Amino acid sequence: MSDTQSRQIVIAGAGIAGLTAAIAFAQRGYPVKLIEQAQRLEAVGAGIQLSPNATRILRQFGVLDRLMQAAVRPEAVVLKDAATLRELARVPLGQAAEARWQAPYLVAHRADLQDALMASAVETAGIEIITGARVTQAAKTGDGVAAAVETGSRAFSTEGFLLVGADGVWSSIREQVSNRASSTSRFSGELAWRATIGADNAAGRAFAAVGAVSSVTTFLHRGFHMVAYPVSKGAAFNLVAFTKGERIAEGWSGAADPMILAKAMHGTAPELIRLVEDAGAWMAWPIHTVDQQQPWTTPEGIALIGDAAHAMTPFAAQGAAMAIEDAAVLAECVATFPADQATGLRVWENLRRPRVAKVARRGAVNHLAWHATGPVAIARNLFLKTRSPEKLAADLDWLYGWQQQKVIRR
Ligand SMILES: Cc1cc2nc3c(=O)[nH]c(=O)nc-3n(C[C@H](O)[C@H](O)[C@H](O)COP(=O)(O)OP(=O)(O)OC[C@H]3O[C@@H](n4cnc5c(N)ncnc54)[C@H](O)[C@@H]3O)c2cc1C
Repeated sequence: MSDTQSRQIVIAGAGIAGLTAAIAFAQRGYPVKLIEQAQRLEAVGAGIQLSPNATRILRQFGVLDRLMQAAVRPEAVVLKDAATLRELARVPLGQAAEARWQAPYLVAHRADLQDALMASAVETAGIEIITGARVTQAAKTGDGVAAAVETGSRAFSTEGFLLVGADGVWSSIREQVSNRASSTSRFSGELAWRATIGADNAAGRAFAAVGAVSSVTTFLHRGFHMVAYPVSKGAAFNLVAFTKGERIAEGWSGAADPMILAKAMHGTAPELIRLVEDAGAWMAWPIHTVDQQQPWTTPEGIALIGDAAHAMTPFAAQGAAMAIEDAAVLAECVATFPADQATGLRVWENLRRPRVAKVARRGAVNHLAWHATGPVAIARNLFLKTRSPEKLAADLDWLYGWQQQKVIRR
């Protein structure tokens, strides 16, 4: 291996995880090859919530100022009963979030996050971005990993001392790491429905009547919840509803029977039903998760990060945040053990597993609580009523207050 190859990082996938990892490694002086299967990087999905544990890292990497130009800093997270539209709980964000967690809570269009990351990656010395190329295989070489890459017209191999699989929930690198039947993703039984509405059209006005236009509002109902928040500096609102459903084609922009959504909303406030009707066409996508028991690294030098490693249900709104944390901690661990990569990867995996598992559990608890019915829903509402906004915020300190620790070599 040449000197450059001996430090070369090859990253498969230029989504949120891959772009953040590219910046994290390049800022530490590693040459990075970032290989993306899409010809053009288009942000899929619609909105994204970015909590302070993620924005703190984006600030450290110089991405946050760019993102702030398009993002919205919501005033609060508000929980509402979808049947009565009664407010059940409120967690203050805005200035309060910044004072408490030392970084902003933001909501943005995914394209805005992707653009801010890409602009920073392009500006950072040492990152080569190759689009329209798919990593298909990984094989051990003398002292590194060779990634087989295919474009429409040619196939080639690229070698590095670390291959980062940041290729999302439908990862092909995961199979190289795991070799287990459980390495494929699992359909969770849930569908996510999304629509983006303009603030100044009928749907936008319908939303203003039921929601809090400057907050993240979650409407709770048995078997259904909907999260709504402003994006694009408040010019539009992102709506995402979750229901049970049949498995549909994998991908972010699918179609499913709109009757599923209509049925799940049975018993919700007429204003909410009107909003969903006025929002126009809803895109559906199947929520897939990845078994977290499988390995995330190999001693030969492959590491899975983001959804490729641990795609989780989005009910804590933390998948992208975990991808960003993964990337920052991975670069730190690899740089701390320059001559002993296997230890660096092991330390990284040991640091990340408990955190990711706890966050995934929080998502499962949220789902249970938000879809509760009967006495459980009554108990939930009582609990929320007795909890002050300050207490509700304090309950999130472990999640949003997370700070990257310096890794020490003993
Ligand atoms: C409905 C919904 C709402 C969500 N809301 C939030 C939220 O509010 N906050 C939050 O933090 N998270 C949220 N998430 C989770 C978040 O979207 C994901 O966790 C995040 O996008 C994962 O990023 P990633 O980079 O790991 O994967 P991806 O974004 O999927 O990126 C993978 C990239 O790899 C490329 N690729 C794939 N295979 C190959 C290959 N073989 N070779 C080269 N390139 C390849 C793909 O084209 C893609 O660009 C939500 C998820 C859903 C489903």
